[in-house]
Amino acid sequence: MSNEKYNPFETAKAQFDNVAEMLELETGTREMLRNTMREYHFNIPVHMDSGEVKVFRGFRALHNDARGPGKGGIRFHPHETIDTVRALSMWMTWKCAVVDIPLGGSKGGVICDPHQLSAREQEQICRGWVRAIAKDVGPLRDVPAPDVMTNAQHMLWMLDEFEAIHGNKFPGFITGKPVGMGGSLGRTEATGYGVIYTVREALKELNIRPEDTKASFQGFGNVSQYAIRLYQQMGGTVIAASYWDQADQKSYTFKRDSGIDMDELIPITDKFGGIDKDKAKELGYEILDANAWIEQDVDILVPAALENQINAETVNKIGKNVKIIAEGANGPTTLEADEVIKERGIFLIPDFLANAGGVTCSYFEQVQCNMNYYWEKDEVLGKLDTKMTAAFIAVSELAKKKNLYMRDAAYMISIDRVAQACKSRGWV
Ligand code: NAD
Repeated sequence: MSNEKYNPFETAKAQFDNVAEMLELETGTREMLRNTMREYHFNIPVHMDSGEVKVFRGFRALHNDARGPGKGGIRFHPHETIDTVRALSMWMTWKCAVVDIPLGGSKGGVICDPHQLSAREQEQICRGWVRAIAKDVGPLRDVPAPDVMTNAQHMLWMLDEFEAIHGNKFPGFITGKPVGMGGSLGRTEATGYGVIYTVREALKELNIRPEDTKASFQGFGNVSQYAIRLYQQMGGTVIAASYWDQADQKSYTFKRDSGIDMDELIPITDKFGGIDKDKAKELGYEILDANAWIEQDVDILVPAALENQINAETVNKIGKNVKIIAEGANGPTTLEADEVIKERGIFLIPDFLANAGGVTCSYFEQVQCNMNYYWEKDEVLGKLDTKMTAAFIAVSELAKKKNLYMRDAAYMISIDRVAQACKSRGWV
């Protein structure tokens, strides 16, 4: 979803150009990696409940598959654009490469607003999306997943259509399926836990004990809730988190200096990660304004809500004791704010490394589907920890060796891996 001011594909290309320069990539390789390898734009006609036929626009962009089949979610959004899909497919390539899983980068989307559609109409869109592209996706070619406003039910409809068309069972065609229908245990926890595995490693590097630290989060949804739980298990104290209040149509920060308690907050939190602020006040929480989460006197900040939240306006409000920023959300920091964070010497764990736990677990889901043998949750989370930790160490070692900002080091590793794969295949 882009707006006129911000074109995510231009940002993605500018980030790539910067690192391509540092890596001294050849012109052909730059041209190959600056754009999507292939993309599809198609119509999805749907017989609506009203009797009329409405045509929805669908997309799939595959940025690069030199390291393995494409991987990336499908978003349903009224403001979806092909440039957003292109940018996200490129970021998926770098994300899969930084955690060293054998997958490329893709993304898909449909311009639609699921809130305005019945379940039957949504099913028709899912089946129509698969029909339009059935020959160009698949477990060995390009593997979709849920994303903004799509869920496990949408994935099952898509799987069902794909299997009907191809006349066989292909549980590895799509990830994000419900547990028991080919989904993986641990997927719900994976992104939030992955963020904290990287925070744990950053703390080790800075020689700080987790139990001596405090943190503040933006967002209280899937990523934040599991990240908070694991960070608290490590001994850390979360003093604040923010959320979007559906009724008031604005966001707030809730805070308690002695630390928030998940067992009392979860029962008063809705499925969209919004809390009941009256009940929170009764439990002793202060309710502060939207940006208060970033101003707290903490050691660690975890933006885990939306893009562009640490920007020219908010970056100067970051507390003076903040030592680590772990980007749980995709693209939470604007280019200007990034410069300020770099100058301040805050240890930044970039989004495509910090939140790669989700895609890593999706890869594990696909592996389990292909074996038709499913691991216990501990096994999944253990493998996840190993992958995330190895990725973090590789990035931080390069950053130390070449005196680089962590985001630049992560990009250098990813882009170099993908460029090498293109080269070894003889493409460039
Ligand atoms: P979610 O919908 O479960 O939760 C989002 C949270 O952000 C909610 O608590 C909501 O109230 C809050 N929020 C929304 N607007 C806000 C605002 N203006 N100010 C403060 N809080 C606000 O989403 P999620 O799955 O936790 O994802 C969060 C971010 O992480 C997104 O950027 C997403 O793309 C990214 N991400 C998620 C995953 C995953 O596996 N869930 C993986 C990779 C990246």
